[in-house]
Amino acid sequence: MRPSPMHFLRTHTANYLKLFIALLISGITMHISDPDVPSSLKMLILDGHLRFDDVSLAAKDFGNRYQLLPSAVLYPGSVSDISTTIKHIFQLGGNSMLTVAARGHGHSLQGQAQAPGGIVIQMESLQGIKPQVHAGEFPYIDVSGGDLWINVLHESLKHGLAPKSWTDYLHLTVGGTLSNAGISGQAFHHGPQISNIYQLEIITGKGDVHNCSAEQNSDLFYAVLGGLGQFGIITRARIALEPAPKMVKWIRVLYSDFASFSEDQEMLISAQNTFDYIEGFVIINRTGLLNNWRSSFKPQDPVQASQFESDGRILFCLEMTKNFNPDETEIMNKEVDMLLSRLRYTPSTLFQSEVTYLEFLDRVHVSEVKLRSKGLWEVPHPWLNLLIPRSRIHEFAREVFGIILQDSNNGPILLYPVNKSKWDNRTSAVIPDEEVFYLVAFLSSAPCTSDHDILEHVLKQNNKILEFCNHAKIGMKQYLPHYTTKEEWKAHFGARWEIFAQRKNKYDPLSILAPGQRIFHKALPSS
Ligand code: FAD
Repeated sequence: MRPSPMHFLRTHTANYLKLFIALLISGITMHISDPDVPSSLKMLILDGHLRFDDVSLAAKDFGNRYQLLPSAVLYPGSVSDISTTIKHIFQLGGNSMLTVAARGHGHSLQGQAQAPGGIVIQMESLQGIKPQVHAGEFPYIDVSGGDLWINVLHESLKHGLAPKSWTDYLHLTVGGTLSNAGISGQAFHHGPQISNIYQLEIITGKGDVHNCSAEQNSDLFYAVLGGLGQFGIITRARIALEPAPKMVKWIRVLYSDFASFSEDQEMLISAQNTFDYIEGFVIINRTGLLNNWRSSFKPQDPVQASQFESDGRILFCLEMTKNFNPDETEIMNKEVDMLLSRLRYTPSTLFQSEVTYLEFLDRVHVSEVKLRSKGLWEVPHPWLNLLIPRSRIHEFAREVFGIILQDSNNGPILLYPVNKSKWDNRTSAVIPDEEVFYLVAFLSSAPCTSDHDILEHVLKQNNKILEFCNHAKIGMKQYLPHYTTKEEWKAHFGARWEIFAQRKNKYDPLSILAPGQRIFHKALPSS
């Protein structure tokens, strides 16, 4: 006999809510699993399969701080497996507290791709959509939402083409980065990855499959881009391509003055004929910095570079690339020299290198391999990613780099500006309300050491940075946002909260999807 809604409420919901709230407040690792998976779910006819044992991998992510066990993991053999499963859960209505999370490569930081007691869909297993490149005036590639960007790149390069906008690391899935934004050093020119998508196939929280684009089902299209997985699961994406260069000139220079550094960055991102990639990072109290660069970069002036002392100072590194093909080397060098002549870096710190386009784009993977070999990849990552309006970046830099942080030994701190005009305000992505804003990413690792609790130290530092931003009303927005209360989420979305909530009600009315974002909670039966 099926339990009545009230019975279900009494026996399950209260416990779930208590557990979930405790988890949110404490932020500590807990394990939840639901022994009451309806038997009907086990009887679904699928091309792939559901697993009810060995689900622990789906409770792990790159952040390594939250582990919420699902009841089952779906390894979809087709798009219709995902639709069938969600439709089934939708039809159970309030008689089930089951939720569904798409899991890309599990590179979230705070359990965003987890589904406590629910179903995790392992998107990388999605079969049936082979990457397909279409050349022509507006070339594009059709890929599965579970494809890794590195595979999208390999496939496109076979046709001499490549996507225009990237993330720094390519072992992330298309669906995962499109649910956030996908930002890297090309974003100033091409916009984030969500600005470079022609079409999506989406499965909503009701299990319906829709094709959408700027012309067709446009509301759903824009809702899903930057939508934190709230409105639908991306099963296919059509990504804009451009001719791929063969080579990249990769340049790093140092500044000791933040004003010159940021003014030069801003000049470069607004210049007509400029670099193809512009980023930057902050170095606080590091020793032997330039020595570390020598394995991959050549100093322009080795003698002067060897006399440069980085110790104990706050330095700002501007990083740029210029794409080229071997037969254009001379003209590329002239353009680079012209651009460099407009910059105010410390002359002895000019370092350059030439690498293939693939080597450049896949650069972080080289570090991953090294860190894995030392057991330093699968450690807690208490990352904090902020978007800071240009008008407040100097105040932010003075306080955060000059006072709150004593060093940058726990991981890189990225800092670079992007142009708001390259973002489409119809998407769900939330950005500061200024024409230019900075991405500031504190990418800390916190390996366990016996003498020092690095994780606690970094979390305290992150809190201080957030408190400063709130107190000084910096107008900051979190990227890859993490909040635990509805009030915080409303503040994050600001005037856009209403449309976000309306879209949720339209496309996922029972709040089945992406529970790990902790924005909405599954609708309870109305008795
Ligand atoms: P997951 O973490 O698995 O999922 C992320 C969210 O999207 C979850 O809520 C999930 O439920 C949802 N989701 C996943 N797949 C789908 C889908 N197909 N449809 C709908 N929803 C889905 N980000 C940048 O913008 N720029 C960077 O340069 C960058 N560098 C990074 C470097 C490293 C080393 C790491 C670990 C992360 C980096 N990121 C960067 C962050 C990255 O964009 C996020 O981690 C993102 O979550 C992608 O990871 P994923 O594919 O593993 O998705």
